[in-house]
This record gives sequence, C-alpha cells and structure tokens, in this order.
Amino acid sequence: MKTVDVVVVGMGPGGEAVAGSLAKAGLDVVGIEAELVGGECPYWGCVPSKMMIRAANLLAEGGRIPGMAGASSVDPDFAPVAERIRAEATDNWDDQVAVDRFVEQGGTFVRGKGRLVDTDIVEVDGEQFRARRAIVFATGTRAAVPPISGLSDTPFWTNREAISATEAPESLIVVGGGAIGSELAQAFSRFGADVTVVEGADRLLPYEEPAAGELIADVFESEGMVVRTGAAVDAVSYSDDGGGRFTVTVNGEELTAQKLLIATGRRTDVASLGLDHVGVPADARFIPVDDRLHVAQKVWAVGDITGKGAFTHVAMYQAGIATAAILATDSDGGVGGSSDGAGGVAGSDSGTSSESTRSEESATDSASSVSPAPADYSSLPRVTFTDPEVGSVGMTEEQARDAGLDIRVGRADVPSTARGWIHKAGNEGFIQVIEDSTTGTLVGATSIGPVGGEVLGALVVAVHAKVPVATLTSMIYAYPTFHRGIEDALNDLS
Ligand SMILES: Cc1cc2nc3c(=O)[nH]c(=O)nc-3n(C[C@H](O)[C@H](O)[C@H](O)COP(=O)(O)OP(=O)(O)OC[C@H]3O[C@@H](n4cnc5c(N)ncnc54)[C@H](O)[C@@H]3O)c2cc1C
Repeated sequence: MKTVDVVVVGMGPGGEAVAGSLAKAGLDVVGIEAELVGGECPYWGCVPSKMMIRAANLLAEGGRIPGMAGASSVDPDFAPVAERIRAEATDNWDDQVAVDRFVEQGGTFVRGKGRLVDTDIVEVDGEQFRARRAIVFATGTRAAVPPISGLSDTPFWTNREAISATEAPESLIVVGGGAIGSELAQAFSRFGADVTVVEGADRLLPYEEPAAGELIADVFESEGMVVRTGAAVDAVSYSDDGGGRFTVTVNGEELTAQKLLIATGRRTDVASLGLDHVGVPADARFIPVDDRLHVAQKVWAVGDITGKGAFTHVAMYQAGIATAAILATDSDGGVGGSSDGAGGVAGSDSGTSSESTRSEESATDSASSVSPAPADYSSLPRVTFTDPEVGSVGMTEEQARDAGLDIRVGRADVPSTARGWIHKAGNEGFIQVIEDSTTGTLVGATSIGPVGGEVLGALVVAVHAKVPVATLTSMIYAYPTFHRGIEDALNDLS
C-alpha cells in the first residue's frame, strides 16, 4: 500500500481541477480515472455538443437569408462536424494531453475504477492508496436509461453515440425533452433529420419556466420537428431491415425512425464507491456534502455526484471550494483550520480538458490566492443551447411562490424590443425577472433569445450580488442591444 496526501477518484472537470490544483500546490496526489481524463464534458458532452450546435446554427442562419438578404440555399453536411469533434474536441477520444498535463503538474495518474475499502484507503485494480489528507470523489453521472419494455435489446443512442455519430440520421426519435435532448434534437434536425421529441412532462425543458418550454416547442414545430409532450413511451422495438428501424410506442401509437436517442436524465452510481465505510448509504442517489464539499472525515465530493446541479461550471466552482478547504486541513486531514487565507483557488476556471483535451491551459493556471466563500447555489446559472438559447438563474416564478416570497414579475418579449425587432428572423424569446418585493432584489430570471445565454450574464450579477432593482432601473442600457430588454422587463414588474 502507498500512502499519499490526496486521492481523487474520477477525473472529469471537477476531479481534474481538484487533483491538478492540489498537485500544483505541492501535495502528493493520485488521480484515478476509469475512462478518459476530462470526463463527460469534453468527450461526450458540453464541448462536442456545442460544436454540433454551432454548425447547426450556421445552417439555420443561412436559411434565414431569404426575405432579409437575398437568396440562399444550404446543403447540410455533417462530415465537417464529425471531423471537428474528432480532431479538435476529443483527439479521437484520446486523453493523453490531459493525462500529461496532470503529470506535469506533479500528479500520479492511475487508470482504473477506484473505491473506498476503508475510511481512508482507495483500492484500484488491487492496488491500494492510503490518503493522509483527503479523498475526493468526483465520479459524475452517466446517461440514465429508463426501464422501457424492449429498449435494452435495441441499439439505441445515448448522448455518447449521438456525439460520436459520423452522419446525421434520416430520422430520429428523441425520448426526453430536457436540455440535452432538446439541444441534440434541434441540431440533428438542422442537419436534415426528421426529428420527433417525446417528453413525459407537459412541456419541454420541464425545470424551466413553463413559457420557456412552450416557446421552444413552438420554435421546434415551426422548424418542422414534431413535439409530443405528456407522452408515455410504452415499448421500443428494433428491426435490422433496410438499415435499421426503431418502432417506439407512444401513448399507444407507433412512431418509427432510423435512430432513437434516449435523453431521459442522468444516473449516479454511489453504491459502487464503497462510501458505506464513511456512513453514506449505498442506496444514496448523490453523495451528501456540506457547503465546503466535505462528506466525512478526510472525504470530499465535487461535481454532478453531489446533486447540486449537473453542470461543468458547478463542478469547477465546487472544485475551487474543495481545493481551498483541503489545503486548509492539517497534514493528517483534520478539518480544524478555516479555509480563509489558505491559498485556495477561488476563481479558477475551466481551462482544463473540459474546454478541449488539447487545451494547454489548466484550471490551476488561473488559481488565485483568494479563498472562496462557502458554496451557495442561489444564483446558479443554467443555459440550454437551443436556438433560441434558454438562460435562467435562481428561482422560477413557481419556486419563488412556493418559498413563500412576496414577488413581482416583469417580462419583455424579445421581438418587441428594439434589437429583437431589428433582428427579425430568429428573434423569438423573452426576458422575465422575478423580484422579491420585500428586499427589492431579483431572486430569479429567464433570458431566452438569439444570445439568451449571454444576456443572462447581467441577470446573474443582479441575482448574485442582490443588486437593488432601483439600482438596475437607474442603469444605462446600450441601445439597441438584446440586454436592453432587461430594462423593459424591470419596468414591467407588477
Ligand atoms: C450532451 C451533454 C451536454 C452537456 N452540456 C453542458 C453544457 O453545455 N454546460 C455545462 O455546464 N454542462 C454540460 N453538460 C454537463 C457536464 O458534462 C457535466 O456536468 C460535467 O461533466 C460534470 O463533471 P464531473 O466532474 O462531475 O463528472 P464527469 O464529467 O461525469 O466525470 C466523472 C469521471 O469519473 C469517472 N469515474 C466514475 N466512477 C469512477 C471510479 N469509481 N473510479 C475512477 N473513475 C471513475 C468517469 O469515468 C468520468 O470520467 C453536458 C452533459 C452532456 C451529457
């Protein structure tokens, strides 16, 4: 058995950032990864999906030329997208650059599946590592596959097969109309696939404002996609004939398509991690953490596995807090010290392989000596990269009412703003703000539009810094920007 300072299990965006930062800070760190260093985000998630979406949006913009700038004809070709995903995003699903980066930071890399076999010992393929200071679990999530009759016998896609596709299918059924399903559905549709989205809830993007999902469904339908909400999938079957055909029974009706994408959420695998050694029940869905990401004596967790938001920016945010907290522990892992002044990595950003496996920059390159505050998710931003983009922060209107807040709501439709009207084709969207009228500050906002995720930035500042609405309404908003719609929404508060 080897004794080291820190063992990190899972090297996705969260684990890679913690492991790299701690190794760079001089600790003896072992990083264990079962698949690819960088995790889901650069290989099968954020980065390649946004490359697909960027290309798909170019096609859509080309299609908007008639009536505004002459004539156009677009001839979609998925080959450059597949090539870019291989060459630029994933190195053909090879993580050597990311492994080398970690080793150059001073870490020791072990490929394999790690699990706790005692309170401070991780075992990987028969090799054991005792941690003096900390063990960090950052094992993320996988696509959840629902127990639909017949499904498991078919060659269905999850996000991984969809991202690895070398051509767009002729037809595609997407089961699950959340962020991942909606993004990929629209992207493949723009590359010529006949797409049907099947969602069990009564609207797409069920975690967002109801009007957001309704607007996205309208846009999808206007682009020729079929949207079935409130739809239960009863059974799936597959036949090899003629290049393959899925039959999906939805509310008793049979739909067919060449490919089937299952995008019904993500699952964790806490049971396989041996965390019962530190009191975490094997049937827990997520690893319970406190606001410093601490789980138990010497044990920490960051990223999707904590259940605080399945986003790379959450994993990176938590990584900064956990790193600072671990650096503040005693050399034998005691959590006596405060992380204040501990030289943590507040503000470290995702320059890791979560942006690209090739990226030379590491999360630790932007490390600062400022210690972060405890984790606070009240101004957590979320962006679904459909066109229009759906950005949101903080509470929805329903969540604010359920929390017992006395609220005022304001809304501005993007097509009615100066910039939205000028933009014309592709200008669908709205900005909605929710004010806690007791404090006079925003507690939530939604920004949908051509650059909805970028406009969201100003709203995140407002919610995070609790900027008084009176201050926001006294600000000058540049004319004619999309973000100027925030002022219209604030003026509509009632
Ligand atoms: C299609 C898609 C699009 C997405 N788009 C975005 C987006 O635009 N923006 C955004 O913020 N987020 C996006 N996400 C979510 C983002 O990818 C995740 O939130 C992020 O990857 C979580 O990071 P993580 O470090 O928690 O875990 P992961 O990235 O899941 O990494 C965990 C790693 O741990 C490894 N592992 C698991 N168990 C073990 C074990 N026992 N031993 C060793 N290794 C183990 C796994 O192999 C994996 O590499 C997207 C996800 C998908 C699927």
